[in-house]
Amino acid sequence: MCNNHKNMTSTHVLSVPSAKASFEKTTIERRELRPHDILIDIKFSGICHSDIHSAFGEWGGGIFPMVPGHEIAGVVEAVGTEVTKYVVGDRVGVGCFVDSCGECEYCLSGEEQYCTRGVINTYNGLDYDGNPTYGGYSQKIVVTEGFVVRIPDGLDMDRASPLLCAGITTFSPLKHWNAGPGKKVAIVGMGGLGHVAIQFAHAMGAEVTVLSRSNNKKEEALEFGADHYYATSDPSTFKELAGRFDLILNTVSANLDVDAYLSLLRIDGTLVNVGAPAEPDKYHVFSLIMGRRSIAGSLVGGIRETQEMLDFAAEHGIAPMIEVIRADQVDEAYERVLRSDVRYRFVIDISTL
Ligand code: NAP
Ligand code: ZN
Repeated sequence: MCNNHKNMTSTHVLSVPSAKASFEKTTIERRELRPHDILIDIKFSGICHSDIHSAFGEWGGGIFPMVPGHEIAGVVEAVGTEVTKYVVGDRVGVGCFVDSCGECEYCLSGEEQYCTRGVINTYNGLDYDGNPTYGGYSQKIVVTEGFVVRIPDGLDMDRASPLLCAGITTFSPLKHWNAGPGKKVAIVGMGGLGHVAIQFAHAMGAEVTVLSRSNNKKEEALEFGADHYYATSDPSTFKELAGRFDLILNTVSANLDVDAYLSLLRIDGTLVNVGAPAEPDKYHVFSLIMGRRSIAGSLVGGIRETQEMLDFAAEHGIAPMIEVIRADQVDEAYERVLRSDVRYRFVIDISTL
């Protein structure tokens, strides 16, 4: 009867039984390898603020028990019979998605995140067979090869892991909205996403300004490549920077005074939101009309672009600044992220699980 399941892989995971509960060490089964599947031995898993929104049930519709984690770096342990892209021993990564229809116009153009059938999230999702997906706070994961990327030799595995979400989520909109020479770009919020965004925008050739609440992160912002730094707690900041930017990338996990940030855009400028607070934003339409300005959003990035981002990071010496933690420190790490007490990404050493 259990024939189908004879080659499933048992793996230890960190899971939350219900919204806001503490993490527990439990065991789950990863599916038997299909022809195009890869079994990955996970080495490091980053903690994204999205993990917290999800594990706290803030975005609604959470599937519990939940095993978060979509910043996965590991080594190929086994491959299915028809895998061509990877061999055992390769250093690989998995980000926010593990499958998509592969046939719609967005999948065909390499933007699987916008798949019309619905992209399958790495965790807190249901796969096309209706089974819940479990993420990277885990020793092993099975993923189809099309959703696995290669970690370039120049990148350490621990520092590479946050690039799988924080990296691509900022690289993709910066490219899409043409951050580059002659462009004035502001990065709002210097957390996990923000500190990587500074490095990418700088490497793309843009003039980069960081807008953080206090002056505490100024020195590091300049080291990451920022040209200017302003504290948003200082009201004179908004006067001084009025009408300055071509592009503002908002990485903040909470609601902001959108009108105040729109006033910092030039005519035709764009405010792109990647930060994803649970509550709706509010703004006055005159903030847009008076400067032909736009508000936009962007979801992570496609698989091809994720590979491009990793190669770009390796080539330009871009990497997150991380604090590696043990598996028994994740609850505490969540509390610290909520207090913005992290420089700038926690990464779980999965060997401690
Ligand atoms: P994070 O490390 O907690 O960074 C968020 C930063 O926002 C903080 O470091 C802080 O920067 C600022 N901030 C926090 N609370 C604030 C408040 N009340 N008012 C003003 N500023 C505040 O989080 P993250 O991992 O970078 O994620 C950021 C957001 O992006 C989350 O909402 C996450 O869910 C979302 N996200 C979206 C996507 C996507 O595809 N669109 C992908 C990944 C993550 P300062 O200290 O510099 O002010
Ligand atoms: Zn994320």
